This record gives sequence, C-alpha cells and structure tokens, in this order.
Amino acid sequence: MNRYQLIESLVPILEDTLVICNIGIPSQELFSICDRDNHFYMLGSMGLCSSIGLGLSLTTKKSVIALEGDGSVLMNLGSLATIANRSPENFVLIIMDNGSYGSTGDQATYTSESTSLAMIARGAGCDNVIECSGIDTKELLGDVLQQRVPSVIVSKIDPGSQPLPVIPLHPIILRERFRSSIKS
Ligand SMILES: [Mg+2]
Repeated sequence: MNRYQLIESLVPILEDTLVICNIGIPSQELFSICDRDNHFYMLGSMGLCSSIGLGLSLTTKKSVIALEGDGSVLMNLGSLATIANRSPENFVLIIMDNGSYGSTGDQATYTSESTSLAMIARGAGCDNVIECSGIDTKELLGDVLQQRVPSVIVSKIDPGSQPLPVIPLHPIILRERFRSSIKS
C-alpha cells in the first residue's frame, strides 16, 4: 500500500473531522481522491502539519486529524513533545511513513534506515503510540476517534506518489471554507 491508497482508505472516516494535510503531493492526493470543506490543504509551512493540527485541536471540540509525513515530522521533532505535553483528546497525528521525501522525488529518509518515529514519539511522552501497516490504519483510526484517545499512529507504507496537478483552489477560498467547517 502506498500513500495514495492509504489516504483513499481513510477518506470515509475523515468526513466528520477537521483534516490538516501535509504540504505537497499528500494534499494533491487527498484533493484528487475527495475534496471537502473540512480539508485544509497546506500550501506552505513545510514541516508544520502536526503543529497546525495540535494548535487547532486546542481551540475546538471537533476531532482533528493531522495527515503527516515522515520527512515532515523529521523536520519538526519538537512538535512531538508539545503534542505529548498538551495531549488534547480530540487530536490524532497520523504519520504516513513511506521512508521517503515523496514530494521531492522519493529520496530516502532516515526512517528507511535506523530511525523509529514511534520510539521518538514515545520518548517525547506520547502515551498512545501505535505503529501499524497501512492496511490496518483505517480500523485503528476509527477506534481512537470513537474512544477520543489522543494518539499518534505511525502507518508504515511503501514509497511512491501519483502524478497529479496542483490544487486549483485560491488560498483565501481554502481558508474561508475551512473556517466555516470549523464553526459549523
Ligand atoms: Mg514520506
């Protein structure tokens, strides 16, 4: 299973959540699979998907999902400590760990060698850290959303990306419709 297939499998249970999606091809894949107002496609701020998701979750009772990548989390490891120490019950960090920088040509990241993001998250103090295969991710996400357990899910998938066009939404339109779905 690659990232496109993982996102495709998760889309049905993202409908009632607020989704922050990592910059680049992950956002293009989510947009192409299913575009909804509750999706925030990052157009900048590389590395900050988990931080934006955490910040949002502290301001709303709605479930917030950060659809992160391994390369992005490796750029911003300090975010895991903030997530652990604030630990809002409505926040789930999903790290789609394909061991590569998918948006820049699939260069290998250190998670394809010795680095375990699940172990780093546990060391940061996150209580419920689950490492799983891509295929098991949907069921696990459904469980933690239902139980409202703050969680980090490291979903191990294969590298590879779909060739897709850029998202044809103006940033202000994207911001306003996402704001509306936060308030709705
Ligand atoms: Mg990656």
